[in-house]
Amino acid sequence: MKVITLREGKERSLLRRHPWVFQGSIAKGGGDAGETVRVQAHDGQFLAWAAFSPSSQIRVRAWSFDEAERIDAAFFQRRIQEAVALRQRLAIDSDGIRLIHGEADGLPGLIVDQYGDLLSAQFLSAGMERWKDVIADALVAITGCPYLYERSDSGVRNLEGLEPVKGWLRHPETTDGARRSTEVTIHENGWKLTLDVAEGHKTGYYLDQRDNRGLFARLVRQFKCKTVLNCYSYTGGFSVAALEGGATDVTSVDSSGPALARASAHVTLNGYEASAHTALDADVNGSLRQFIKEGRTFDAIVLDPPKFAPSAAHADRASRAYKDINRLAFKLLNPGGLLLTFSCSGGIGGELFHKIVAGAGMDAGVDGYLLKRLEATPDHPTTITFPEGEYLKGLVIVRK
Ligand code: SAH
Repeated sequence: MKVITLREGKERSLLRRHPWVFQGSIAKGGGDAGETVRVQAHDGQFLAWAAFSPSSQIRVRAWSFDEAERIDAAFFQRRIQEAVALRQRLAIDSDGIRLIHGEADGLPGLIVDQYGDLLSAQFLSAGMERWKDVIADALVAITGCPYLYERSDSGVRNLEGLEPVKGWLRHPETTDGARRSTEVTIHENGWKLTLDVAEGHKTGYYLDQRDNRGLFARLVRQFKCKTVLNCYSYTGGFSVAALEGGATDVTSVDSSGPALARASAHVTLNGYEASAHTALDADVNGSLRQFIKEGRTFDAIVLDPPKFAPSAAHADRASRAYKDINRLAFKLLNPGGLLLTFSCSGGIGGELFHKIVAGAGMDAGVDGYLLKRLEATPDHPTTITFPEGEYLKGLVIVRK
């Protein structure tokens, strides 16, 4: 068994059950990519069993803080069972569910979403790469989903020294070698939504906004919003929500053509008139400026941009970018109108995000009531020992 010894004082974070050790905290020791190592304090005290990652800044990711626990197939089966059991108790009213949410589920570097009979997974760390086969078998056995597609084509794999990988990881044998389509229809808030696990973003869809999309439908109805602008719409989840809420003129803006095509398809798939929806393949920032020039205004606006700040180091530039789009959105909002504004940047805390949006309102000369703070759905849990896990934050604002 390889041993990693930390520098004096660097044991504190593992003792608080935070699962990461950075390169600079290690005094001596090493291992192969993904190898299980024993991590100990400078005086030899056991701290954790962990996966070693020789090329990552996060050199060590803890598997277990229990010295008696063995890191083997049964360990992964237990962790997956626990994660799936939590989702069952959450009684999520959808067949699109995040089953494994990385660190929060004690499985650092693993993301698994279930879409109907299809699992879509990302293996994002050296440790996960090493245990991939064991995990794939356990996932199929525990969920009963026969189809497992791998979407390990995320850029973060580079940081772990891993190549991008994409394709079927588990698929039942067929006599003619035929493969299930990578398309699937899920049901969310009573709507039908389609996605393609091979072509969609991340694992195929953004399940973390499920409850916020449901809330948006109710708010649009309550506030009698008719004209709605959905920025960074992806496949139009918030647009379908707006239509359900009674909106008559919904615009989805995204820079992905395939995502927008799906957004338009979702409008008619859910029984709404195609003419109630406009899909705009464009940069959001430019579109907001264009709408201001044209003198257009909206009863409700959603801003759900991609991650502007991947880490705290990018917080400054990201803050300016968030402020910019929020200022423009405030200008486009009718009095009494609704703004749902989000940040999914781990590097931007909730308090900072609130300040940015407040500053944007000031610059636009607009005040608003803060109706509600929003977060990710509970199948994307956080733990009390891993604050980095809290990435999605949102505000519901009603313009005065
Ligand atoms: N609200 C969506 C998820 C948004 S994900 C939902 O509920 O499903 C962020 C989206 O922003 C992606 O679809 C991406 O294509 C889009 N995007 C990224 N940069 C953009 C830009 N500059 N202008 C327009 N869209 C952009």
